Parts: sequence; C-alpha cells; structure tokens
Amino acid sequence: MSLAQQYVRPEISALSAYHVADASGLLKLDAMENPFPLPPELQQALAERLAHVALNRYPDPHGGGLKERLREAFDIPAEAALILGNGSDELITLVCQALARQGAVLLAAEPSFVMYRMNAVFSQLRYVGVSLREDFSLDLEAMLAAIAEHAPAVVFLAYPNNPTGPRYARAEVEAILAAAPGLVVVDEAYAAFADDSFMNLAGQHPKLLVMRTVSKLGLAGIRLGYAAGPADWIAELDKVRPPYNINVLSQAACHVALEHLAVFETQAAILRQERGRLAAALATMPGVTVFPSEANFVLARVPDAPRSFAALKAGGILIKSLHGGHPLLNHCLRFTVGTPAENDRVLAALPNCL
Ligand code: PMP
Repeated sequence: MSLAQQYVRPEISALSAYHVADASGLLKLDAMENPFPLPPELQQALAERLAHVALNRYPDPHGGGLKERLREAFDIPAEAALILGNGSDELITLVCQALARQGAVLLAAEPSFVMYRMNAVFSQLRYVGVSLREDFSLDLEAMLAAIAEHAPAVVFLAYPNNPTGPRYARAEVEAILAAAPGLVVVDEAYAAFADDSFMNLAGQHPKLLVMRTVSKLGLAGIRLGYAAGPADWIAELDKVRPPYNINVLSQAACHVALEHLAVFETQAAILRQERGRLAAALATMPGVTVFPSEANFVLARVPDAPRSFAALKAGGILIKSLHGGHPLLNHCLRFTVGTPAENDRVLAALPNCL
C-alpha cells in the first residue's frame, strides 16, 4: 500500500479515474461532441471578444450577465432561479456535496451517466441504482418501490439517457417527481436533440432541478453547465459553488456563441437528421440491433463489440464500447453522430468490422 493509499479514503483508492481515450489521429466519435468547427465569422467574433477580456481580474462570480442571456436563449421560466457550473459535471458535484447528510441516498436508473455514481462515492452518499428494462425503458414500478424503500435525498434522471439513447416517457418522470421525497434532477444534457423537456416546469415544481449544458450543442471546450429550479434549492447549492467557477474566457465565449445561436441550432438540426440516417443504416446490418435515440449518438448491439470496436479503431475510427460496463450493455457500441461525411465513413467501414 502506498503512502497516499494509507491516507486516501479507501472508497476513493478503489476507484479508477474517469477514462478518456486517446483519440490522436483518429476520427473522434466517442464523446458526443458537435463535429462541426466554428465557422470563420464566428472565429473572428470570438477572437475580437476574447482579446478584450480582463484576464487580470477574477471573473464575475454571478456569471456576468450570462444567466440573463441563457434565459432568453433557452426559454428558462422567469420563476426559476439559475446556477452555473464548470460543465454540468460540476453541478452534479455541487448537488451531491450539498445533500450529503449522513446516510443520505442518491438514486439513479442504471445504466446511466457514470458521474452520478462516482459523485455519490466522492460525497459519501449511499448509491442506489435501479436497473432499466432490457429495452432501456424505465422500470417505473421498480423506481417507485426503490423511492419508497430508500427515501432518496436526490434522484438523477438523464432525459434522454446516456449511454442508452431513449428518453423516458414524460408521465414516468412526472410520477417520480410526485413520489420522490427530495430533489429530482432531470439532466437534459441532450436537450438540443430531444423532443421534450421539463424546462417549462423549472421553478414551479418544488422538487425539480433541470440541468443542462452547452457541451453537446457545440461548446464542450468552454465547460459551461446550468441548472434551473426553485430559488430555495438554488440558494443552497450556491453555497457550495466555488465563487469563480466560470472563468472569464468561458463567460465571454458563451456570450459570443449565444449571439450566434442559430449557427448551433442549424448544426443540431443536421445532427438530428444524420442520427436518423445512421440508425436506419445500422439497423439493416446483419446481427445489429439499434436502440431509439433522442440524443446525438446511437447505441447499437452488435454480435461482438470488442472485435468491432478494435476493427473500427484499426481503421482510424474511435467510438465507445460499453461492453463490460453494465450487464444490460453487453456487446453495445455507442456511435456519436458526426458530420455527414464522417457518418458515411463509419457506415462504409462497419460491414467489414462486424
Ligand atoms: N449529463 C449527461 C447525461 C452526460 O452525458 C454528460 C456528458 N457526457 C454530462 C452530464 C456532463 O456534461 P458536461 O460536464 O460537459 O456539461
């Protein structure tokens, strides 16, 4: 046992750090990024704005007007209060830190975004995972039974879900909101690609926190997430937020991006279309099962996921293999939707990789 391990909490020592695959030289379709580069006029606008940022000053701790711009851009109700995070990753951490009373439970459907469970460990919340059905729909009965049994301080629901793709039925999420004793975080990281949202209820429903990010829309590099909910919850979360968590460059870049929101919305529309094309083409391949997706990725079960993953990688294409991560994800591969040309490349390569 190393000296560090003698002092670090054993449950941290037992973890593996969040793995980010090396994508050098590969077509990167593993992390749900927007594949389109910034158009030249936006690059220019960004360069000019960033050149004037006061790097010598700490950032505005309240986001420097960004919250107001986000409200306008994404139809956030006036009655909702807002908190900004260094990516929605940080917002998950803040929720867990604030709610980690002794014995408190974090409940989530499984498989879902791994950072829910990781943050439960970081903050010493007791984690309860409730398995999805085999088709990745929500097992509402099991969720309600687990809520009744464990009285979770917080329930995390990704809407739509990563890494599976489907969005749960709205009525099921409403039933969970009605039954949960504490906070329900509806994580809408993929809102730009989804057909429904709970944002209209943010600030109205006393237990609902709607969490979003600009990452999937095309700004993963600036690390900006936001959560909308009742003022009393946001006020508590704000107490654990590091005061300068959104740096000045990210704030300025986000302002520029929101002034050109139509560019990103057009890209999202193309990606939604491409998602349909990718899913339809995958579904025609022998032995491949495709799951419905309302996100910017498509999950498919193939006959031999490790083999297909390795063969695609050897051909210069990096996707994500979820095989081994959870029993329901056996032989599942996740394809981030790329540009039309990138998707063509995947579809051309795949038949020889199955
Ligand atoms: N929630 C879900 C469901 C996700 O899939 C992700 C990213 N993979 C995040 C939150 C975190 O996004 P970010 O920190 O980039 O805002």
